[in-house]
Amino acid sequence: MKSADGTVLFGRSLLKATLAEREDPDVAVSAVCAHEYAHILQYKKQLMNRLQGGQPTVKRIELHADYLAGFFAGARKLQKADYPAAVYATKAHSIGDYMFTDRNHHGTPDERAAAIVAGFNASYRERKTLAQGIETGIGYVQSR
Ligand SMILES: [Zn+2]
Repeated sequence: MKSADGTVLFGRSLLKATLAEREDPDVAVSAVCAHEYAHILQYKKQLMNRLQGGQPTVKRIELHADYLAGFFAGARKLQKADYPAAVYATKAHSIGDYMFTDRNHHGTPDERAAAIVAGFNASYRERKTLAQGIETGIGYVQSR
């Protein structure tokens, strides 16, 4: 059997909180999973050093994962017009932080939601391929 590229662990408390959300909790769960799968893709494509770029925090890596999660939401919406893709931006916004000097700073709520929207537009409006989306996403986070 071919080995997996990675494993996503979903913390019980985050899962419980996400499932308790009022609007489309199942889609909010998929938004978190899409962000985590994006990290697996980043590792597989060996993008970490390029993304980190000597920055003191992991923010660019995290915003790139948000961008790719948004990219996925756009691809889903192309398949299914009523897919509630906006939930991705709402979820990312809700877990943004203001720990600017903390190494684990993931981006502010607004930065995270904006990365989701940019990724969404790259797939849904601009119809980029995943390979193109990965690269435009890198350009996006490097300009932040
Ligand atoms: Zn992350």
